[in-house]
Amino acid sequence: MKILRNKALRWVLLMIGLGAIIALTGMNVFSLYNLRDQMIEGEGERRIDQVDEIHHLIRNELNSPFSGFHKIELEPIEASIRETGQFPPKIKEVLLRVSQSKLYNEIYYTPEDVDPCDSETMIYIYDYETNLMKRTDSYPETVCDGVGIVRTKTKIQLNDLNYRWNNNIEFDSHRSLNVGLINLTESKIIGYLTFLIDDEVVVNELIDPLIEDFFSPSEESGVVVWLYNWISNETLATNDPSVEYDRSLVDYVHRFPSYFNNWTISLAFLQSPIANVYNATLVKNLVVLGVAVLFLVGALIFMFVTAQRERNLAQLQANFLANVTHELKTPLAVMQAAGENISDGRVTENDRLKQYGKHIYDESIRLRRMIEKLLDVARVDSGEVMIKAAPHRMHDLLKKFLTENQEYLESKGFTVKLDSRDKSSLVMIDEDSFETILNNLTDNAIKYSNGVKLIHYSLNSDKNDIYLSVQDQGIGIPKKDLRSIFNKFFRVEDSLKAKTKGHGLGLSIVKNLVDLNGGEIIVKSVLGKGTTFTVIFPKLIREDYPQRHNKVGQTGKNINKSTEYAG
Ligand code: ADP
Repeated sequence: MKILRNKALRWVLLMIGLGAIIALTGMNVFSLYNLRDQMIEGEGERRIDQVDEIHHLIRNELNSPFSGFHKIELEPIEASIRETGQFPPKIKEVLLRVSQSKLYNEIYYTPEDVDPCDSETMIYIYDYETNLMKRTDSYPETVCDGVGIVRTKTKIQLNDLNYRWNNNIEFDSHRSLNVGLINLTESKIIGYLTFLIDDEVVVNELIDPLIEDFFSPSEESGVVVWLYNWISNETLATNDPSVEYDRSLVDYVHRFPSYFNNWTISLAFLQSPIANVYNATLVKNLVVLGVAVLFLVGALIFMFVTAQRERNLAQLQANFLANVTHELKTPLAVMQAAGENISDGRVTENDRLKQYGKHIYDESIRLRRMIEKLLDVARVDSGEVMIKAAPHRMHDLLKKFLTENQEYLESKGFTVKLDSRDKSSLVMIDEDSFETILNNLTDNAIKYSNGVKLIHYSLNSDKNDIYLSVQDQGIGIPKKDLRSIFNKFFRVEDSLKAKTKGHGLGLSIVKNLVDLNGGEIIVKSVLGKGTTFTVIFPKLIREDYPQRHNKVGQTGKNINKSTEYAG
């Protein structure tokens, strides 16, 4: 119950751990993306602010000659014009400033009672050389249009009782700036000033340099900017002539109010270098995060699996101890009872004495084998196994083993077949280890044969290695278990397992000893047909290598074992 609860708790903790990692990773990825988007968005907003700034600079440039114009007292203007043909000094100052600005290229004055739309009507033109107003009857149509606009709007302004400026300024789109001069005391219009705007200068000397300053070149800024005339569909200025204006590319459009209202400043955001840097940082962060998460998850799962394995092993070891004590007690009990009967003098007949003696002998052998196995395990576990390797003929060792065990094998009803094709090769091996290996493999062949009781020992060799096989025709081992049988305490879940005694130690001992002697072990098995264990040791004198390479530990690991499992 407690074990079950612990197991469930471990699973819950693992799941919580994994969940926490996933949640933290998700949060991190989300915030990284968010941060990147905000950075890029911030960059976009900064660019839009720059367009606003350009707009303000253009407006300032256009308005700067007129600063303070609103407050100029205009009452004496009519008299001044009438008497001298000139404006009062304060207006002259403004005109001088405008004449010096490259953005305006002609200045006209139209008195209120004159209609510049009638051809041959005389109005005034500003003479850039003398800085005086001259009468003229030749002027462009723009004057008529500009005056028309400002006249209408100024009249509307005058109707507003709260209107309190001496002039009213109106733009005729990008062609002219027009001023309606007002006599506030009498609430009447005096006349109109028309300043013709030089589009080319505005574009080439004002807007283009500003675009260059703020956005150029597009590879650096990541933005393409167009000053675009949407009425004539033409690009007037851009920071990247290689990219043609295309409405579908445009991410942001800035419109000019009143003046230049048929122009726009359009922006297309390319993948800016800053965005690239953010993206690269994002990718780097994601990779680092991914690797860290993989490590974390790996470590967590590894810890979980190891804990699980150790728990299983502890469980197996506990079972093993219980079984072993039980099994040690059984032969002891038999021997105790037989010994008691003899020593008591209760058994006197020769036949029965012999029988009791045999019992004691058999059980003591069983006990010895069991204790030897336990000692082997203990020695392997503590790493104390001493290998006294010496040159031996494998054939001789095998023969010796079979002779010694002949009686035992026969008593178990087994027929032994020996097939030795290499009687002379020497191997460097510890004799005791070899005996333990053969003992265990033979014991297993006996234990796991329930039909044909035949054990086939065969010895073969190639240029470098010698192969010793122990083959039975027993129950076989399921394929899925082949890789586990060499693990300590592993036993195949099988009906026969219940009937055969064992603790899953024999093969782990065999494997350890084979390794220690510089060999290799492979197993081949067909369920229901039988099993063959083959141990491979390097020959002392190998035909492929010079003599000095023939050391124990250089194993013939190049054998082909595609169909078998190597322990
Ligand atoms: P055990 O004491 O259980 O025999 P081993 O380590 O010697 O322990 O063997 C491990 C398991 O491998 C056995 O429990 C058995 O299921 C399987 N096994 C070993 N040898 C054979 C064989 N010759 N035939 C069938 N199964 C075998």
